[in-house]
Amino acid sequence: QKSFNPLRKINQEIFSYAANKQQEIDELKRMATYRREFLADVSHELKTPIFAAQGFVYTLIDGAVKDKKVRGKFLKKAAKSLDGLEMLVNDLLTLSHIEAGEITMHFEEIDLLALVEDVFDQFEGKTDKKNMSLQLDKSYEGPINVIADYQRIYQVIVNLISNAIKYSDENTEIVVGFEINQKEVTIAIQDHGAGISPEHIKRIFERFYRIDKSRSKERGGTGLGLAIVKHIIEAHGSSVSVTSTVGKGSLFSFKLPVEKEPEPYVPIADEEG
Ligand code: ADP
Repeated sequence: QKSFNPLRKINQEIFSYAANKQQEIDELKRMATYRREFLADVSHELKTPIFAAQGFVYTLIDGAVKDKKVRGKFLKKAAKSLDGLEMLVNDLLTLSHIEAGEITMHFEEIDLLALVEDVFDQFEGKTDKKNMSLQLDKSYEGPINVIADYQRIYQVIVNLISNAIKYSDENTEIVVGFEINQKEVTIAIQDHGAGISPEHIKRIFERFYRIDKSRSKERGGTGLGLAIVKHIIEAHGSSVSVTSTVGKGSLFSFKLPVEKEPEPYVPIADEEG
């Protein structure tokens, strides 16, 4: 049997105070590292398309411009790099505005089914190259009303469908489905593509995290799509779930409220600035 020791309690308190402080210090260190790495990442990501475009343009200036065939090819490649650069800057701006809490969500009642149909229109023709099909699960008739920001959710679904296309093989199918109950609607985007292993699933929502850097860039990715998705869905008081099997495919889903307006977005302290 233990004897009562008044010092033990004091010791415990000191210990837990010190542990708390250590945690705060660790958190500050982690943030400092994160910011440093983010800046380094951004600079690196910006350099890649700039260097590529420069390379083509200077080769043209150095004489390649005289060859009509080469000229067309190099100009197209330079333009593609600049398009990539524009995409990257746009995504970076969106992300930093959202993280700084500068984007206000405009919550209103919207028809999620109509929204998805609008997104499908945008992708018309884009799935042909890989002979893929984009399907809408028709178990529910519209409208499927939710309280959400139309433009932001539109962007989320565009990002998720773009990924589903990018990371799937030819001749596969992407299905967008819904599950409705009184309080909320779940929307799910399912592909039969590359799949993601559990250790990567934990990290794919981080900025610039890519499972296969070269493949992602080659497919026109900025590495920011899912980070943007995560923030927008969190601003809707919800979160994104992923279930995936390597080699079989992935399912990304999230819930939106039917009646109650989501809690306004308050940026988390460690993500400010
Ligand atoms: P990216 O611009 O590289 O596509 P994202 O933030 O959209 O950036 O995605 C991060 C990474 O997660 C991708 O590089 C890819 O490796 C992986 N990923 C995203 N969606 C899928 C998917 N549907 N199937 C397989 N891998 C995916």
